[in-house]
Amino acid sequence: MIRSEILKEIAPILRDQLVVCNIGIPSQELHAIDDQPTNFYMLGTMGLASSIGLGLALTQPKTVIAIDGDGSVLTNLGTLPTIGNNAPDNFILMIVDNGSYGSTGDQPTYTGKKTDLAGMARAAGCDNVVEVQDVDTGAALQKAISEKKPTVMVVKCDSGNAKMPVITMDPVVIKDRFMKAVAAS
Ligand SMILES: [Mg+2]
Repeated sequence: MIRSEILKEIAPILRDQLVVCNIGIPSQELHAIDDQPTNFYMLGTMGLASSIGLGLALTQPKTVIAIDGDGSVLTNLGTLPTIGNNAPDNFILMIVDNGSYGSTGDQPTYTGKKTDLAGMARAAGCDNVVEVQDVDTGAALQKAISEKKPTVMVVKCDSGNAKMPVITMDPVVIKDRFMKAVAAS
């Protein structure tokens, strides 16, 4: 499975949650598959989906799912010890690990070689790290939501992008819509 196929499968689960989605094609895919006001699409700041998601989880009680990528986490590795030492029970970091920088043309990342993000998350202090194969993502995500403890999911899948339109909503509109949805949830 590629990322967009996983997003299609988990869209019904994501619909009721606060979601912070990684910059670029992941956000375009989620937006095209199932746009929701409870989705925050990053249109900038590569690497910071997990940091924004963590901040949001710390400041309100509802479950927050940060959908990140292997390339983005590798760009912001300091996020793992920050999560490991501070994540509250309502935070789930789902790293879609396709072994490539998808949004810039599928150049390979080191997770396709010797680098193990799940091992790095554990070493950084994340207590509940689950390694998931693409087809099992829905069940694993549902389990993480119901367990109500901080979870890092590393979802292994194939490299590749779906052809989706760019998001034409202004970033300010995305932010305002999301903030209203957070306040109402
Ligand atoms: Mg990737």
